[in-house]
Amino acid sequence: MAVGELAAVEPELLAFAWEAVTADGPDAGARLDIEWHPARQCCPSCGDVVERQPGSWLRLCPDCESPLQLDGGHDLDILSFAFEAQAECAEADA
Ligand SMILES: [Zn+2]
Repeated sequence: MAVGELAAVEPELLAFAWEAVTADGPDAGARLDIEWHPARQCCPSCGDVVERQPGSWLRLCPDCESPLQLDGGHDLDILSFAFEAQAECAEADA
C-alpha cells in the first residue's frame, strides 16, 4: 500500500490497526507492506526539487526566494494484492 505524506494517515497507526483487525480471524498472518511517498517541494523558477528535512517545510526557494510549490504526497493507494495458497490439511489414513 502506498501512503503519501499529505494523506493524513500515519503509517505506524495503519500497521497497528491492520494487525489488530487481522490478528484473531481467518486473515491472521496477513501482511501489510506500506510504501511511504513523501511530498516534494519544487521551485517554479529554478525547477529544482528542494531538499528538506522530513516533516519540515520551506516557504521560499533557498536560491531565488520564489514561493515553493508542493508536488505529490497525496497517495493512499493499494499497489498490489496477493493471496498465497494454503496447503490443505488432509487426514492421513492409518
Ligand atoms: Zn528557485
